[in-house]
Amino acid sequence: LIINKNIHGDPTIFIDNWPNRTRFWLPSIDHPSDKATVTYTIHAPVEWNVIANGHRVNSPIPSLNNAIGPKENRLTWKWDVTVPIPTYNMVFGAGKLDVELLGYAACDQSPASQRQDNCIEVSLWVYPEDKIKAKDSFRRAVNMVDYFTKTIGPFPFEKLANVQSSTRFGGMENASAIFYSEKSIGKGRNIEGTVSHEIAHQWFGDSVTEVDWNHLWLSEGFATYFGNLFFEYEDGEKIFQDKMENNRKRIINSENTNRPIIDQGNKDLFKLLNSNNYPKGGWVLHMLRGYMGDELFFNGIRKYYELYKYKTATTKDFQSVMENIKGENLDWFFEQWIYKPGFPIISYEEKWNYSEGRNGSVSVKISQIQKNEWPIFIIPTEICWGGENCKSIRIDKRIQSYEFNFENKPQKVGALDPKGLILKDISNK
Ligand SMILES: [Zn+2]
Repeated sequence: LIINKNIHGDPTIFIDNWPNRTRFWLPSIDHPSDKATVTYTIHAPVEWNVIANGHRVNSPIPSLNNAIGPKENRLTWKWDVTVPIPTYNMVFGAGKLDVELLGYAACDQSPASQRQDNCIEVSLWVYPEDKIKAKDSFRRAVNMVDYFTKTIGPFPFEKLANVQSSTRFGGMENASAIFYSEKSIGKGRNIEGTVSHEIAHQWFGDSVTEVDWNHLWLSEGFATYFGNLFFEYEDGEKIFQDKMENNRKRIINSENTNRPIIDQGNKDLFKLLNSNNYPKGGWVLHMLRGYMGDELFFNGIRKYYELYKYKTATTKDFQSVMENIKGENLDWFFEQWIYKPGFPIISYEEKWNYSEGRNGSVSVKISQIQKNEWPIFIIPTEICWGGENCKSIRIDKRIQSYEFNFENKPQKVGALDPKGLILKDISNK
């Protein structure tokens, strides 16, 4: 519970919980496995607006004389959450906030909507001084809700408010009341990437909640990847690939490469906000999509969401849904990417062989040269010598040789995994 002056010197009150600071203002079993509904009754100065999770039960009314707190001129606000949410999501905020309707989304795809038209209201709550600066970041928020609804499943909550706040995070995905850093909006930064990430969290993290902290990638990895997918859908492949490449660099250059995504050894929850749970978790989904193909992957995602919405899930739950859809055991995939550290570092060499009177061939030698403490990865992928000239391969040993026959010498050196479906580093020795 942060009671202080905002960046413009006005008093504000905002809740900031993650991971387990809800207990400091609300008696609770403060753990993601214990979700609950909640109703807020809040008495606030008349000139303030009050936002919270859920839907506003009625227009604010003058506070009763016996209402708790100072006897100033106040209004009483009531917000009600009709579906269970994790305690770290339970928030309200109050202050001088300008409220703008951005639009309606997820029409007929919003089971928790309290509106006659069965849509959800997407709104923006910002300090009056920053209204113009916030515009660009939130201009596609409605499209984001519609995109995720179409891709994952119905929007889980009563509405979606985007709120400038004093959260310590860049963004905090609180169910139906996302809080964003007051500073980044106040500086006029475009935080559209954050907006997409936090909106994706409404499905993953808020509705399907990780059963325990070491499964955090089910929240952050999913929000990272689905946050990127919106830009693939709206802005095209190039923008998406740039985002995945930025994510890849964060993984490769991180201090956490010797730890697995599910890290039983980590007891400091803030240290879970790392490159394993965010970009590497996102890359795990990208690789799974590459392996399964779009149709099966997104069917699996929709199935997983349908089964675990408003509940909690484990990594095994997700794995078994994807295995059922693919019709195949995926232990090899999850074991190496989720439960083991690192990523493949690959050395690629090729040689053209030709002898008179015969077709030529290309010999390829692929070595996994990562440190011994990291696994030898199983990698189904392909090598392409320009456009369509591709051969499927399976890498599963430290050093492997392949030979491919060609009528003519390929014009280019082979590119391993040209579509960028595998998290790896290529060593050019
Ligand atoms: Zn997040």
